[in-house]
Amino acid sequence: MSRPLQITVLGATGSIGLSTLDVVARHPRRYQVFAVTAFSRVAELYKVCLAHRPRYAVVADEVQARSLQAQLSLDGLTTQVLAGEGGLCEVAAHPEADVVMAAIVGAAGLRPTLSAVQAGKRVLLANKEALVMSGGLFMQALRDSDAVLLPIDSEHNAIFQCLPSDYARGMAEVGVRRILLTASGGPFRELPLVDLESVTPEQACAHPNWSMGRKISVDSASMMNKGLELIEACWLFDAKPEQVEVVVHPQSVIHSMVDYVDGSVLAQLGNPDMRTPIAHALAWPERIESGVSALDLLRVGRLDFQAPDEERFPCLRLARQAAEVGGTSPAMLNAANEVAVEAFLERRIRFTEIASIIGDVLNCEASVPARCLEDVLTADRRARVLADSWLDRHGR
Ligand code: NAD
Ligand code: MG
Repeated sequence: MSRPLQITVLGATGSIGLSTLDVVARHPRRYQVFAVTAFSRVAELYKVCLAHRPRYAVVADEVQARSLQAQLSLDGLTTQVLAGEGGLCEVAAHPEADVVMAAIVGAAGLRPTLSAVQAGKRVLLANKEALVMSGGLFMQALRDSDAVLLPIDSEHNAIFQCLPSDYARGMAEVGVRRILLTASGGPFRELPLVDLESVTPEQACAHPNWSMGRKISVDSASMMNKGLELIEACWLFDAKPEQVEVVVHPQSVIHSMVDYVDGSVLAQLGNPDMRTPIAHALAWPERIESGVSALDLLRVGRLDFQAPDEERFPCLRLARQAAEVGGTSPAMLNAANEVAVEAFLERRIRFTEIASIIGDVLNCEASVPARCLEDVLTADRRARVLADSWLDRHGR
């Protein structure tokens, strides 16, 4: 085999970032960590640097960068520490990086992920918010470059695995009727509706099947995660919102399905462990060991399916509406959700107010066409201002 592929891990200290490093470390002859980035958990990043000895590390600001640089130099590491969004974009687009794992959470990942796309990398997309915000522009940047985009979100990775290799010809052309996007339903699937008002961040973050970062855990509890994934699926697979059906499947063993016109339904199954889609996307079209144990169907026993309850999960309806409206609507939905989720995690609002804030923001501001990145970023900023003003008005 030729030299190891050089991997940049954006968001290396997060749940996806650490799972990526775990898979990469199992294949030292195949992959080498080129760059790692973190935002606030610099002590974690320091440990990652000691373990993987990357060429670059990126932190939030110059002060953190100087302190991490001094520590690493004392340990005899030649890792160069960069700071800020400029540093993130630099390691994402660096000529020597072959693969970029986009695993920053939220809108903060947009520019670095786009930089990787524009530089023609193999981009492993976990940061769904980036695609939700900038959809058409993101996909155009992909067409304009030599980049290869591989979905990490378990559902989209599953759909990708169930589609024929020439799916880009179009859903109808390759005989696809519908995409069946599975959802666990999160920790509150069966909670009495009256109790939803008083759930805590700890309850929301205790996902029954997956261990994830706090923001996506809250999104899973509100099913906004499924809403964002619906928008993500529309862009990735060139589907219309009505061609994507959400199916609640509490066991999270089927990661999603593709329904063909001849009546065949193809599904991808596995234990709920993100190292499977990560390993798949790293090695595609080959297969490598991921560290995930074999699926024991006899232990799983049964697979259940339900329709999603939109009264319980209004965020799902809001996301579907944003997908249908298009333009800057998904960017506003995402930004309002980010503000609301943060306020919920800080115990400033109730869980049920997340949807109220997003609904309010989408009602206040009309969607406009997203012709350039500035249109998207303006919509993002405007939605944050509106969401903040909701918090002010309600004394939070
Ligand atoms: P996490 O909170 O565990 O980690 C987030 C990472 O992003 C951290 O390394 C953090 O330092 C970095 N980060 C946060 N804010 C930043 C900022 N402003 N600037 C630069 N870096 C910043 O999140 P996660 O669960 O690993 O999720 C990461 C992304 O992957 C999200 O978009 C999420 O939706 C997606 N995803 C996660 C899972 C999962 O199982 N965790 C599954 C599917 C998709
Ligand atoms: Mg997912």
